[in-house]
Amino acid sequence: MNDAGSTRSPARSRSARAAALLERLAALPASDGDATAEAPVLVRAPGRVNLIGEHTDYNEGLVLPAAIDREIWIALRPWDRPEVELTSAELDETRSFRFEGLAPAAGRERSWIDYVAGTAWSMRVAGLPLQGFRGVLDSTVPVGSGLSSSAALEMATSWALAVPGASRPDPAAMAAVAQRGENLYVGVNCGIMDQFASAAGRAGHALLIDCRTNTFTPAPMPPGLAVVVCDTGSTRRLGSSAYNTRRSECELGAKLIGEREPGVTSLRDVDEAMLERNRDRLPEVVARRCEHIVCEDGRVVATVEAMRVGDLEALRRLFAASHASLRDLFEVSSPELDAMVEIAMSVPGVVASRMTGAGFGGCTVSLVEPGAEVALRGAVMTLYPRLTGLKPQVYAVATVDGAGPVVQAS
Ligand code: ADP
Ligand code: MG
Repeated sequence: MNDAGSTRSPARSRSARAAALLERLAALPASDGDATAEAPVLVRAPGRVNLIGEHTDYNEGLVLPAAIDREIWIALRPWDRPEVELTSAELDETRSFRFEGLAPAAGRERSWIDYVAGTAWSMRVAGLPLQGFRGVLDSTVPVGSGLSSSAALEMATSWALAVPGASRPDPAAMAAVAQRGENLYVGVNCGIMDQFASAAGRAGHALLIDCRTNTFTPAPMPPGLAVVVCDTGSTRRLGSSAYNTRRSECELGAKLIGEREPGVTSLRDVDEAMLERNRDRLPEVVARRCEHIVCEDGRVVATVEAMRVGDLEALRRLFAASHASLRDLFEVSSPELDAMVEIAMSVPGVVASRMTGAGFGGCTVSLVEPGAEVALRGAVMTLYPRLTGLKPQVYAVATVDGAGPVVQAS
């Protein structure tokens, strides 16, 4: 199922997409308890690409993702039953669960429905009312490529389950609810960035998220630059175990520094001078991990400013420094990601390029001058398979608003 959604073009008009999904909903075989009198509802949630600030979220640091026009949509009919029946169009698979007795260990199926049930469980724990429904979902977010199909699924679910008229927590709080579902119910130890970006995204902007305070500031995208995502087509081998190791190394670094420096509870409290003062206390690998995190937070702040003033040279430098740091200090890049960045930076008009997401495979993100998207796509499609033997995907993406009901032009 690893390519679910990846071949679908987001270019299809919204109305055509809505019509196809509603048709699919209407075609479901009849079921008793189906509240056919209720009008169908359409909700959506975007995937995201992180511009910069990698592995900083679980260190209470700064990240700069943008919600993108690769989205999961759910068409649904509310019903009176306290349960959900959902069909994934990509997988052509229908799964269901009941609200009663939802609990992390007991309910888990080790399938995609866990992300949906986990969101329901976490919403209920947060005291939010749940609306049962029967629905169909479709997606243009490639699965497992680092564009956060899982967070898109969770945030779309949070809207699908919402009781009409009930008050809804703000996007930051709702993102935290969904993150708890993924952490505790699905059992994936993710930070809050993905859900936050999918919930709170704003068209024309990236979001500067402070993962310590769970607050955000919209940061205008640099005018005239396009965002291009290149998928290396390589699986995130060793991804989750290496991710957990990196988290422990960062926690150990904060703990060891905190033994000497009052008030340090996470790497967010450490600056470069403090890290240098304490380097002798840290195992060499831990010191390198800490150096990446401490400097990456600074690069996020500098990137927001460079985007604001349109400083292309600074953007190039900051993306390059982030990529090199992830490759050499944090050691989460891969030969495929390095090759993809190298190819992109050899194309005239590509301003900046780096790996994005947790690493070990997945995607790169590039900022590109008008007209250079075609040359970038051509270079990647020709050179990348030669270098790696893998088939890449290239997505020109646009920034969009965060999750909510689908608004259609009338
Ligand atoms: P990503 O980087 O895309 O978030 P994850 O491994 O975190 O990768 O999440 C991918 C999982 O999300 C899939 O294995 C599946 O369980 C679920 N998922 C994503 N998109 C869909 C879809 N269209 N239909 C069903 N499940 C999906
Ligand atoms: Mg995910």
